[in-house]
Amino acid sequence: MTSLVQPASLDEIRGGVLIAGGTEVVPQLADGLLETEALVDITGLLPRGIVGTTIGAGTTLAELESSSEVPEALREACRLAASPQLRAMGTIGGNLLQSTRCWYWRLRYPCFLHGGDECHARTGEHREHAFFGNGLCASAHPSDPAAALLALGATLRTDRRELPLAELYRLPDEEDRRLTTLEAGEVLLELDVPAPDASVYLKAMDRKRFSFPLVGVAAARAGEVTRVALAGAAPVPWLLEGGLDEATPLPGTAYKVEVAEALVSRALATIASG
Ligand SMILES: Cc1cc2nc3c(=O)[nH]c(=O)nc-3n(C[C@H](O)[C@H](O)[C@H](O)COP(=O)(O)OP(=O)(O)OC[C@H]3O[C@@H](n4cnc5c(N)ncnc54)[C@H](O)[C@@H]3O)c2cc1C
Ligand code: SF4
Repeated sequence: MTSLVQPASLDEIRGGVLIAGGTEVVPQLADGLLETEALVDITGLLPRGIVGTTIGAGTTLAELESSSEVPEALREACRLAASPQLRAMGTIGGNLLQSTRCWYWRLRYPCFLHGGDECHARTGEHREHAFFGNGLCASAHPSDPAAALLALGATLRTDRRELPLAELYRLPDEEDRRLTTLEAGEVLLELDVPAPDASVYLKAMDRKRFSFPLVGVAAARAGEVTRVALAGAAPVPWLLEGGLDEATPLPGTAYKVEVAEALVSRALATIASG
């Protein structure tokens, strides 16, 4: 049986699975993807709200989408994510740490990411999968806000360290199948999001609302620096440093490269004049 604990401070956390809004943890428990003796409710311990460029990890997507202090790319990425009910519960910290939506992984196939020998998606059904960084695992990172934050050059503060958002993520390899660098029990506390001169988030999805990104494109311009980042493109949020001609699409994801080309040029045109 799983118990719910509510520690009075971060120092009192002793193992278990951290839970904030629970919109990802609860379904995973129900589906048997997560097993734990203790759910550790950290909602009361997380900073929440927006002060200048600092965003508490406990801030909900709904709070971010309606704040005029938040850069446009992040606001729009939150507004286009999930449903109003999920955005009212889901925190930005939990959103950055959500698991892949790969159907093989969710159905508990013994695939590479679950510790097995092969990626079932590479040879199977993969129209929603990756076109970058997909050699061992072809999953596509589902977070819209993560791409926006990557383009905006956000940094994170945990209870143990400060790091650029890009360093929260890693591609899996034979020795280590994890997609993040977060240590067991490490708590994401705050994000620092520098204000850009202009930013935008564009999202292609299967329907107009309540759908994960097939391709999400975030672009931000600050002074002479312009960054473009992609959601739904690689197992991790993907900073587009080379061109889209460096993509490695699978047969079923080649269309995503064309979608990305159209969205990237539209995004760059928007921030050039924004
Ligand atoms: C049907 C559905 C549709 C969705 N559509 C989209 C979409 O289109 N775009 C999109 O971007 N997202 C989408 N999401 C994801 C949704 O935004 C996330 O589930 C939500 O933001 C997670 O936040 P939470 O607080 O509920 O996380 P939780 O479920 O509480 O936690 C998620 C994970 O993060 C860990 N965690 C949470 N907070 C912290 C912290 N502060 N420090 C360390 N670890 C932490 C938990 O241990 C867990 O592993 C969708 C989700 C669902 C269920
Ligand atoms: S894409 Fe990744 S999560 Fe999906 S089957 Fe392949 S290895 Fe598993």
